[in-house]
Amino acid sequence: MTASPPPAGVEHDFPLARLTTLRTGGSAEFFARVNDSEALAELLAWARAAGLAVGVVGSGSNLLVADAGVRGLVLKLERDLAKIERDGARLRCGGGARLPQAAARAAREGLSGLEFGVNIPGTVGGAVRMNANAYGGDLSRVLEWAEVTSAEGSERREPSELGFAYRRSGLGPEEIVAGASFALQPAEPEAVKRTLADMRARRHAAQPSGIKTFGSTFKNPDDPRAEGRTAGLLLDAAGCRGLELGGARFSVKHANFVENTGEATTAAVIALMSEGRRRVRERFGVELEPEVQLLGDLDAAELYA
Ligand SMILES: Cc1cc2nc3c(=O)[nH]c(=O)nc-3n(C[C@H](O)[C@H](O)[C@H](O)COP(=O)(O)OP(=O)(O)OC[C@H]3O[C@@H](n4cnc5c(N)ncnc54)[C@H](O)[C@@H]3O)c2cc1C
Repeated sequence: MTASPPPAGVEHDFPLARLTTLRTGGSAEFFARVNDSEALAELLAWARAAGLAVGVVGSGSNLLVADAGVRGLVLKLERDLAKIERDGARLRCGGGARLPQAAARAAREGLSGLEFGVNIPGTVGGAVRMNANAYGGDLSRVLEWAEVTSAEGSERREPSELGFAYRRSGLGPEEIVAGASFALQPAEPEAVKRTLADMRARRHAAQPSGIKTFGSTFKNPDDPRAEGRTAGLLLDAAGCRGLELGGARFSVKHANFVENTGEATTAAVIALMSEGRRRVRERFGVELEPEVQLLGDLDAAELYA
């Protein structure tokens, strides 16, 4: 039991599956939607006093939630913490703002640089944590700073202080991106909109749509034995395209996408991922590394089995 009663709005035993794009996993012990910085500080102080771990869910587009659920407090940033505002040639976004909406807003405002975000179905906070990128766009090129909040307080960090590497940052597990500022270039709105439309069309042709998935399952390997092939090509060559286990399947259209065909559990997804890794290891000697993030009581070792 926790020491003091939770702040208003904290829910107990909250199902998380519907907050993820894969739609699997159990419940959060405690869950709260956070509307502003003051509420965020209050919740973090309460969690610290109660000895609870803190996690955050963005759009859940790169997230695998444990079937057994998540102990501690899970937060979702909304309202003031999901705003998108123009400030000259900058776009100021809450950590909970959706990246495709930020990209579309930048286009309408005649600002260029955030186009790569149009096809990344995550939040600004999730994108900073994951160093999300697409089509050669580069988050760190346009990110001016991220506001990082923890129980210790808040501070602005520039890209050089965020420990960015391929699909990762150096943010600690309990550090929350409450907001970010993007420094963009003035451009013709119609030209930026055309770029967005072109990127959407290219994405539609290359990847499955309308399925329950967290996008790329494994990072593209940096291993000479892969001979430059992507994780998707290696999985395909190892016979994983369309492979199904317990309702979890490597997509027929894109072998590096795992989809939940209906009733899959997180355990089934992990078993499928392990089988994919095993086949690629046996065939090519390459160890695929998961890109998807785990939340909750999950044994990460299972993924590396
Ligand atoms: C169809 C599809 C296509 C995709 N295409 C791309 C792509 O082209 N490029 C790409 O890079 N990714 C892609 N992704 C993956 C995913 O969209 C990105 O990783 C995205 O940045 C995740 O953001 P999110 O808000 O959904 O984070 P979540 O999935 O909710 O969380 C991911 C991680 O970020 C943490 N997190 C979330 N919000 C915050 C916050 N405010 N502060 C701190 N940590 C936070 C979570 O705790 C978790 O560890 C794709 C996913 C799908 C489903």
